[in-house]
Amino acid sequence: MDAIGVDIGGTKIAAGVVGEDGTLRAQTRHDTDPTDPAAIEAAVIAAVAELRDGHDVGAVGVAAAGYISPRRDGVVFAPNIAWRDYPLRERLSHGIDLPMVVENDANAAGWAEFRFGRGRHVEHMVMATVGTGLGGAIIADGRLLRGAFGAAGEIGHMEMVPSGHYCGCGHEGCWEMYASGAP
Ligand SMILES: [Zn+2]
Repeated sequence: MDAIGVDIGGTKIAAGVVGEDGTLRAQTRHDTDPTDPAAIEAAVIAAVAELRDGHDVGAVGVAAAGYISPRRDGVVFAPNIAWRDYPLRERLSHGIDLPMVVENDANAAGWAEFRFGRGRHVEHMVMATVGTGLGGAIIADGRLLRGAFGAAGEIGHMEMVPSGHYCGCGHEGCWEMYASGAP
């Protein structure tokens, strides 16, 4: 049975159908407005409906940049999208009748790398995702480490420089402010 993965970014969503062996079978993209959560949800629902057609899909994984609730059903805080304590899974369930989890985008990327990529022969790994920010995922004993607040892998927000550059997360000197794709 296949699964659909949806990556919600700041200005677009990218979604794909993935087989049990990690093979990407189909994909689609939709532009979105980060200030309009309703439009983002509509785009995700449309993308899933589009991709389900012709595939035997059993579940949906939704990845987003931000702090994800430990129950993996919502977004506590997203730096680039207008979500605060946002029940994303419940909102999407109005248009998607499949089992669904919400996960941090770096955790999702790290898990994919662990299952199907460079990490497939190891039990412990850390993945760093360098983009607009610096994200991370930690796999320990073959399990994704989330921690008490679901943010164990947020390596980009470890304080590297005391009293350093102010970060969008509200702290100073975060690693992300010194090592990321942002100018
Ligand atoms: Zn930070």
